[in-house]
Amino acid sequence: MSGYDDSNIFARILRGEIPCHKVYEDDSTLAFMDIMPRTDGHTLVIPKAPARNLFDIAPEPLSDLIVKTQRIAIAARAAFQADGLTLQQFSEPAGGQVVFHLHFHILPRFEGVALRPHTGEMANPELLAGHAAKIRAALG
Ligand code: 5GP
Repeated sequence: MSGYDDSNIFARILRGEIPCHKVYEDDSTLAFMDIMPRTDGHTLVIPKAPARNLFDIAPEPLSDLIVKTQRIAIAARAAFQADGLTLQQFSEPAGGQVVFHLHFHILPRFEGVALRPHTGEMANPELLAGHAAKIRAALG
């Protein structure tokens, strides 16, 4: 396992170098829409402090992150009237990780609807902006 490399795409989003559709932000956490959503409402939650993945974060900031993740998951469920939720976290290439800044995937799920495959195709920005606004509204 290598260390943290701050040239990763989420570090660039945190520095404001590339845009994102923001769902939630506070001192320690940022949540934004996944650019290639596998379901409507697919949201990523990341710590602001550098952490490569689950193997690279102390218990206290991880606790903070998972509590925020739960809050956003509840809002996403309400925003999309989802029947359920899948929470994913991939660590290291062998675990399926592609972007090396720790993140949780929030995936609202619907009865009988499979996740969309990874196509590599980016979603319409207006659609993502609308989805982010729906979750922000549900967060209150
Ligand atoms: P993982 O590392 O957990 O396998 O997946 C990284 C996730 O980041 C993927 O779901 C991918 O669609 C998403 N992603 C990759 N590049 C960007 C980007 O530039 N912006 C956003 N919002 N999401 C991205």
